[in-house]
Amino acid sequence: MTTEIKNKILSMSREEHKSIRAISKETGMSLGAISNFLRKSEDIVRFVNCLNCGKEIPMRNNGGRTPMYCCSECKYEDYRKTKKRRHVIRVCEHCGCEYKQYSFIKSRFCSRACANKHRYSRIR
Ligand SMILES: [Zn+2]
Ligand SMILES: [Zn+2]
Repeated sequence: MTTEIKNKILSMSREEHKSIRAISKETGMSLGAISNFLRKSEDIVRFVNCLNCGKEIPMRNNGGRTPMYCCSECKYEDYRKTKKRRHVIRVCEHCGCEYKQYSFIKSRFCSRACANKHRYSRIR
């Protein structure tokens, strides 16, 4: 059963209040498989796929927050793959030069040297 079909069965059964027979007709799944699935998924709102590895994540009622990754490693890996490539242009607060930085890193200086000099000049 694919994630798509599972979600379809859940919404047909709960929102459209269709019978298992009607769902079976529409999805092509057997009556037994559908009733089994519905019994097992009683506390599951819907299914989502991990954005990194595609693994299916059952979503229980958790206040509306969508878990998009199956684990913290996947979240980190996807973050690294997508976010890190995006650069933004920032202006160094010390020397005024423009420099490229990863968008998810908050920085104010083009280099550690500038950061140190800036801190030093403020202390004096
Ligand atoms: Zn994953
Ligand atoms: Zn600088």
